[in-house]
Amino acid sequence: MKVWIALILLAGSVFGGELRLLCSTFPIFQLTRNVVGERDSVSVKLLLPAELGCPHDYVMTPRDIRRLTKANALVLNGLGMEAFLTSTVQRVNPELIMIDSGAQVASLTVETPHACASTSCDHDHRPQHHHHRAHKHDREPTGPELNPHAWVSPIRYATAAATIAAELAKLDPAGGATYAANAAAYAKRLDILQAKITTLAKSNMQREVVADAQAFAYLGADLGLSIVAELPHGGDSSSAADMRALLKTTEAHKPAAILTQPSGSRRLQKLLKRDASLPVLEVNLMSTGPIDAPLTHYETVMLKNLDALAHLLQSREP
Ligand SMILES: [Zn+2]
Repeated sequence: MKVWIALILLAGSVFGGELRLLCSTFPIFQLTRNVVGERDSVSVKLLLPAELGCPHDYVMTPRDIRRLTKANALVLNGLGMEAFLTSTVQRVNPELIMIDSGAQVASLTVETPHACASTSCDHDHRPQHHHHRAHKHDREPTGPELNPHAWVSPIRYATAAATIAAELAKLDPAGGATYAANAAAYAKRLDILQAKITTLAKSNMQREVVADAQAFAYLGADLGLSIVAELPHGGDSSSAADMRALLKTTEAHKPAAILTQPSGSRRLQKLLKRDASLPVLEVNLMSTGPIDAPLTHYETVMLKNLDALAHLLQSREP
């Protein structure tokens, strides 16, 4: 009996015929599905609820933990996004193989809200409402914090696809060629988006916007946009005083638009609609999405974003 159990466990450790992949976030789930393609011997599941959004402060549920114990490998966004699950994984499934899709991505650090010319300047540059950042600073007092929202940049998303393909080939060498081909094909589709971004970045358009500076950082950098005032990242943390301050900054800079996200604070969006004198454009950065989204979901949504941004920013005099 004991021998049997040992044999079953042993078979499980070499994936028992099926490679069970778990992906931390919705964008990484979509990316991994594209890299795995039709390969039958691999299952791809999403760990976190698809509608969750950024999991910076996420607390794991028993259901998540069950999923972690059943998986062979966990595909991560990386760049610090999954700090919340490291200790849980060590506790419940220390054998779980971690695939860091962000390992090769050209990362940005979390931008301070204003540039300070003097290096001796030691006042707090951190925005006041990034509650998840405050936590991180408690744990990691030194070094710049990486911005984990790199999937919003198609060129970086393609880099992550190549990393996932290379890491999957190590776990499943027989599928290596398939993963590489799928990642390359997907990168070609992302290239179309990247070409659009490059064209738009070079065009004559208004560049100053108000946005969630963390979530928009990568796309903003690719497009050459300047975020002149910050919307809070994630939850419903803005007070009436914050909103007044935000609208005051906004008025001073006269930016082209306020960019919001469907996953952002509802209260904030309502306030902006009522009080802002600028156009408000909702841009879907895909931190969330339908669990049964088509494999082309990212391209479709990003194309829509780019068209809407082009329409709005190019129609206003720079
Ligand atoms: Zn986030």
